[in-house]
Amino acid sequence: MAVNITAYKSIIEELKDKATLIAVSKTKTVSDIKELYKLGQKDFGENYVQELIEKQSQLPEDIQWHFIGHLQSNKVKFVVPFVYLIHGVDSFKLLKEINKQAQKVNKVVNCLLQVHIAQEETKFGFNQEELDILFANKELKDLHNIKIMGLMGMASFTNDLQKIGEEFAQLKRLFDQFRPFANHNAEFTTLSMGMSSDYKTAIEEGSTMVRIGSLLFGARTYQD
Ligand SMILES: *Cc1c(COP(=O)(O)O)cnc(C)c1O
Repeated sequence: MAVNITAYKSIIEELKDKATLIAVSKTKTVSDIKELYKLGQKDFGENYVQELIEKQSQLPEDIQWHFIGHLQSNKVKFVVPFVYLIHGVDSFKLLKEINKQAQKVNKVVNCLLQVHIAQEETKFGFNQEELDILFANKELKDLHNIKIMGLMGMASFTNDLQKIGEEFAQLKRLFDQFRPFANHNAEFTTLSMGMSSDYKTAIEEGSTMVRIGSLLFGARTYQD
Protein backbone atom coordinates (compact mmCIF):
# COMPACT_ATOMS: atom_id res chain seq x y z
CA MET A 1 0.00 0.00 0.00
CA ALA A 2 1.46 3.32 -1.07
CA VAL A 3 1.65 6.39 1.08
CA ASN A 4 -0.84 9.07 0.05
CA ILE A 5 1.46 12.02 -0.58
CA THR A 6 -1.33 14.23 -1.87
CA ALA A 7 -3.37 13.72 1.29
CA TYR A 8 -0.27 14.38 3.41
CA LYS A 9 0.46 17.70 1.72
CA SER A 10 -3.10 18.91 1.93
CA ILE A 11 -3.43 17.95 5.62
CA ILE A 12 -0.18 19.76 6.44
CA GLU A 13 -1.49 22.83 4.62
CA GLU A 14 -4.83 22.58 6.40
CA LEU A 15 -3.32 22.24 9.88
CA LYS A 16 -0.66 24.90 9.47
CA ASP A 17 -0.41 26.98 12.65
CA LYS A 18 -3.34 25.23 14.27
CA ALA A 19 -2.19 21.72 15.11
CA THR A 20 0.75 19.34 14.92
CA LEU A 21 0.32 16.25 12.77
CA ILE A 22 1.24 12.88 14.24
CA ALA A 23 1.49 10.35 11.42
CA VAL A 24 0.14 7.13 12.90
CA SER A 25 2.25 4.38 11.37
CA LYS A 26 1.11 1.32 13.34
CA THR A 27 1.12 -1.82 11.17
CA LYS A 28 2.87 0.13 8.37
CA THR A 29 6.38 -0.54 7.13
CA VAL A 30 9.65 1.23 7.76
CA SER A 31 9.80 2.22 4.10
CA ASP A 32 6.33 3.82 4.33
CA ILE A 33 7.59 5.87 7.28
CA LYS A 34 10.73 6.88 5.36
CA GLU A 35 8.58 8.19 2.54
CA LEU A 36 6.88 10.70 4.80
CA TYR A 37 10.10 11.42 6.66
CA LYS A 38 11.71 12.48 3.38
CA LEU A 39 8.93 15.06 2.97
CA GLY A 40 9.79 16.52 6.36
CA GLN A 41 7.45 14.62 8.67
CA LYS A 42 9.17 14.10 12.06
CA ASP A 43 6.35 13.03 14.38
CA PHE A 44 5.16 9.44 14.16
CA GLY A 45 2.75 7.52 16.39
CA GLU A 46 2.76 3.84 17.29
CA ASN A 47 0.52 1.67 19.49
CA TYR A 48 2.53 -1.45 20.17
CA VAL A 49 5.73 -1.46 22.17
CA GLN A 50 7.46 -4.27 20.29
CA GLU A 51 6.61 -2.82 16.90
CA LEU A 52 7.75 0.64 17.99
CA ILE A 53 11.12 -0.65 19.23
CA GLU A 54 11.78 -2.53 16.01
CA LYS A 55 10.96 0.44 13.82
CA GLN A 56 12.80 2.96 15.98
CA SER A 57 16.03 0.98 15.68
CA GLN A 58 15.86 1.15 11.87
CA LEU A 59 14.90 4.79 11.44
CA PRO A 60 16.57 8.20 11.82
CA GLU A 61 17.37 9.43 15.33
CA ASP A 62 15.56 12.72 14.92
CA ILE A 63 12.13 11.15 14.56
CA GLN A 64 9.89 12.10 17.47
CA TRP A 65 8.11 8.94 18.54
CA HIS A 66 4.66 9.21 20.07
CA PHE A 67 3.34 6.26 21.98
CA ILE A 68 -0.43 6.46 21.47
CA GLY A 69 -1.56 3.02 22.61
CA HIS A 70 -2.37 1.63 26.01
CA LEU A 71 0.95 1.34 27.83
CA GLN A 72 1.35 -1.46 30.34
CA SER A 73 3.48 -0.71 33.40
CA ASN A 74 5.90 -3.54 32.70
CA LYS A 75 6.63 -2.15 29.21
CA VAL A 76 7.38 1.40 30.29
CA LYS A 77 11.11 0.81 30.62
CA PHE A 78 11.38 -0.18 26.95
CA VAL A 79 9.97 3.04 25.53
CA VAL A 80 11.16 5.62 28.05
CA PRO A 81 14.76 5.85 26.75
CA PHE A 82 13.73 7.26 23.37
CA VAL A 83 10.03 8.20 23.40
CA TYR A 84 9.08 11.82 22.76
CA LEU A 85 5.52 11.87 24.09
CA ILE A 86 3.33 9.23 25.77
CA HIS A 87 -0.29 10.03 24.92
CA GLY A 88 -2.30 7.47 26.84
CA VAL A 89 -1.41 7.85 30.51
CA ASP A 90 -4.51 6.77 32.36
CA SER A 91 -3.49 6.21 35.98
CA PHE A 92 -1.31 7.71 38.68
CA LYS A 93 0.39 4.34 39.00
CA LEU A 94 1.49 4.50 35.37
CA LEU A 95 2.70 8.06 35.80
CA LYS A 96 4.82 6.96 38.76
CA GLU A 97 6.29 4.08 36.80
CA ILE A 98 7.18 6.40 33.91
CA ASN A 99 8.80 8.76 36.39
CA LYS A 100 10.79 5.93 37.95
CA GLN A 101 12.10 4.61 34.65
CA ALA A 102 12.81 8.13 33.37
CA GLN A 103 14.84 8.84 36.50
CA LYS A 104 17.00 5.79 35.79
CA VAL A 105 17.99 7.14 32.39
CA ASN A 106 18.15 10.72 33.58
CA LYS A 107 15.36 12.03 31.38
CA VAL A 108 12.16 14.00 31.67
CA VAL A 109 9.42 12.21 29.75
CA ASN A 110 6.53 14.13 28.23
CA CYS A 111 3.10 12.69 28.95
CA LEU A 112 -0.53 13.36 28.13
CA LEU A 113 -3.33 12.27 30.42
CA GLN A 114 -5.93 10.29 28.56
CA VAL A 115 -9.47 11.36 29.32
CA HIS A 116 -12.51 9.20 28.78
CA ILE A 117 -14.93 11.21 26.63
CA ALA A 118 -16.53 8.50 24.49
CA GLN A 119 -19.74 6.70 25.29
CA GLU A 120 -18.12 3.27 24.94
CA GLU A 121 -17.20 1.61 28.21
CA THR A 122 -14.07 0.05 26.83
CA LYS A 123 -12.02 3.16 26.19
CA PHE A 124 -9.37 3.92 28.77
CA GLY A 125 -8.95 7.20 30.54
CA PHE A 126 -9.58 9.47 33.49
CA ASN A 127 -12.90 11.13 34.14
CA GLN A 128 -13.15 14.61 35.61
CA GLU A 129 -13.37 13.39 39.19
CA GLU A 130 -10.27 11.25 38.76
CA LEU A 131 -8.40 14.24 37.32
CA ASP A 132 -9.43 16.27 40.36
CA ILE A 133 -8.02 13.58 42.61
CA LEU A 134 -4.81 13.35 40.61
CA PHE A 135 -4.11 17.08 40.73
CA ALA A 136 -4.96 17.22 44.43
CA ASN A 137 -2.43 14.47 45.11
CA LYS A 138 0.59 15.98 46.87
CA GLU A 139 2.80 13.23 45.49
CA LEU A 140 2.32 14.52 41.95
CA LYS A 141 4.70 17.44 42.47
CA ASP A 142 7.46 15.05 43.49
CA LEU A 143 7.54 13.40 40.09
CA HIS A 144 10.44 15.37 38.64
CA ASN A 145 11.06 13.11 35.68
CA ILE A 146 7.70 13.48 33.97
CA LYS A 147 6.06 16.48 32.37
CA ILE A 148 2.31 16.51 31.84
CA MET A 149 1.95 18.33 28.54
CA GLY A 150 -1.84 18.20 28.47
CA LEU A 151 -4.73 15.90 27.65
CA MET A 152 -5.62 13.32 25.03
CA GLY A 153 -8.95 11.79 24.13
CA MET A 154 -10.84 9.72 21.61
CA ALA A 155 -14.42 10.41 20.60
CA SER A 156 -17.09 7.76 20.28
CA PHE A 157 -16.99 5.41 17.33
CA THR A 158 -19.85 6.98 15.39
CA ASN A 159 -20.58 8.94 12.22
CA ASP A 160 -22.52 11.49 14.22
CA LEU A 161 -20.21 14.51 13.92
CA GLN A 162 -22.37 16.56 16.24
CA LYS A 163 -21.92 14.02 19.02
CA ILE A 164 -18.18 13.84 18.29
CA GLY A 165 -18.01 17.63 18.39
CA GLU A 166 -19.70 17.68 21.80
CA GLU A 167 -17.25 15.13 23.16
CA PHE A 168 -14.27 17.12 21.89
CA ALA A 169 -15.76 20.31 23.32
CA GLN A 170 -16.04 18.54 26.66
CA LEU A 171 -12.37 17.58 26.48
CA LYS A 172 -11.42 21.16 25.61
CA ARG A 173 -13.36 22.41 28.65
CA LEU A 174 -11.44 20.02 30.89
CA PHE A 175 -8.19 21.15 29.29
CA ASP A 176 -9.00 24.79 30.07
CA GLN A 177 -10.20 23.87 33.54
CA PHE A 178 -7.04 22.03 34.52
CA ARG A 179 -4.63 24.42 32.83
CA PRO A 180 -4.31 26.56 36.00
CA PHE A 181 -2.77 23.51 37.66
CA ALA A 182 0.29 23.95 35.45
CA ASN A 183 3.48 23.89 37.48
CA HIS A 184 7.03 22.62 37.20
CA ASN A 185 5.94 19.22 35.94
CA ALA A 186 2.66 20.07 34.23
CA GLU A 187 2.62 22.39 31.23
CA PHE A 188 -0.83 22.07 29.66
CA THR A 189 0.06 23.23 26.17
CA THR A 190 -1.06 20.16 24.20
CA LEU A 191 -4.54 18.89 23.47
CA SER A 192 -4.32 15.68 21.45
CA MET A 193 -7.62 14.92 19.76
CA GLY A 194 -8.73 14.00 16.25
CA MET A 195 -8.06 11.06 13.91
CA SER A 196 -8.65 10.45 10.18
CA SER A 197 -12.43 10.51 10.43
CA ASP A 198 -12.87 13.39 12.86
CA TYR A 199 -9.79 15.63 12.82
CA LYS A 200 -11.61 18.54 11.17
CA THR A 201 -14.14 18.55 13.99
CA ALA A 202 -11.32 18.26 16.52
CA ILE A 203 -9.57 21.32 15.07
CA GLU A 204 -12.78 23.32 15.25
CA GLU A 205 -13.03 22.38 18.93
CA GLY A 206 -9.49 23.46 19.77
CA SER A 207 -7.20 20.49 19.15
CA THR A 208 -3.49 21.27 19.00
CA MET A 209 -2.37 17.79 17.92
CA VAL A 210 -4.07 15.31 15.59
CA ARG A 211 -3.21 11.63 15.19
CA ILE A 212 -3.83 10.53 11.61
CA GLY A 213 -3.16 7.06 10.21
CA SER A 214 -5.38 5.67 7.48
CA LEU A 215 -5.75 8.91 5.50
CA LEU A 216 -1.97 8.91 5.05
CA PHE A 217 -1.08 5.25 4.90
CA GLY A 218 -4.29 3.62 3.70
CA ALA A 219 -6.51 1.23 5.64
CA ARG A 220 -4.91 -1.12 8.13
CA THR A 221 -5.25 -4.88 7.98
CA TYR A 222 -6.03 -4.93 11.66
CA GLN A 223 -7.77 -2.25 13.63
CA ASP A 224 -7.62 -0.92 17.14
C1 LIG B 1 -4.90 4.07 15.25
C2 LIG B 1 -5.03 5.30 16.06
C3 LIG B 1 -5.15 6.56 15.45
C4 LIG B 1 -5.22 6.75 13.95
O1 LIG B 1 -6.42 6.27 13.45
P1 LIG B 1 -6.88 6.59 11.94
O2 LIG B 1 -8.34 6.43 11.98
O3 LIG B 1 -6.22 5.57 11.08
O4 LIG B 1 -6.45 7.95 11.60
C5 LIG B 1 -5.22 7.68 16.26
N1 LIG B 1 -5.17 7.57 17.60
C6 LIG B 1 -5.07 6.38 18.22
C7 LIG B 1 -5.02 6.35 19.70
C8 LIG B 1 -5.01 5.21 17.48
O5 LIG B 1 -4.93 4.04 18.10
